[in-house]
Amino acid sequence: MLQRVERLRAQIDEELRGCGRAPGSVRILGVSKKQPAEAIAQAVAAGIDAVGENYVQEARKKFADPHLAGVRVEKHFIGHVQTNKARAIVEAFDVVQSVDRADAALALGQAAQRAGRVLPVLLQLNISPAERFGCLPQDAPALAAAIRAQPGLRLEGVMAIGPLASGPGEIERAFALAAKTFAALGGSTLSIGMSGDWREAVRAGSTMVRIGTALFGERRQ
Ligand SMILES: *Cc1c(COP(=O)(O)O)cnc(C)c1O
Repeated sequence: MLQRVERLRAQIDEELRGCGRAPGSVRILGVSKKQPAEAIAQAVAAGIDAVGENYVQEARKKFADPHLAGVRVEKHFIGHVQTNKARAIVEAFDVVQSVDRADAALALGQAAQRAGRVLPVLLQLNISPAERFGCLPQDAPALAAAIRAQPGLRLEGVMAIGPLASGPGEIERAFALAAKTFAALGGSTLSIGMSGDWREAVRAGSTMVRIGTALFGERRQ
């Protein structure tokens, strides 16, 4: 694991230098869905300081596992936000990257306020025709306003999933659209790039890559 983390960091830094960006300016989110709690503990020991999970039940069970007792790691929710799970999400996670509609913002905002917290969130943008979730770019300003209207939420940027099967230039165009929307909305975090497309994402301005299989190997379960 240590070797994988160090190699990935070195590759990201090389890509950053190649496009004139500062090494170390991209954070790695370890995506641990369908991986055991031990794998998270190993990733943290190797220097990963934030992990992402897609499913609330799976994450709650995993975070309570004895392997993670005393392990400090920032927990990001990157799955679809169901409004009836808002409270459970707020209880289990530090950051929600996948706010893609106003009713999700409202439910999370109210749950965060009830918990006496201000929850950092990202607006999930849809930049791929194959993607089911995410706010369309033309609707992003209205959703950003809805998030900012919630005292329980703090909008920190944009998350997007790149197109999977793509022709030439398609990934670049999609990430450029995410970067443009991020620039218009403001914030500190542009969460784009996964195991298969993080290089394109880094070149487009990513500040956080979400890496599952390239760190943890194929998903189990
Ligand atoms: C699963 C997942 C990832 C990680 O995917 P890999 O291709 O395994 O790196 C990143 N982001 C989201 C939203 C995911 O669901």
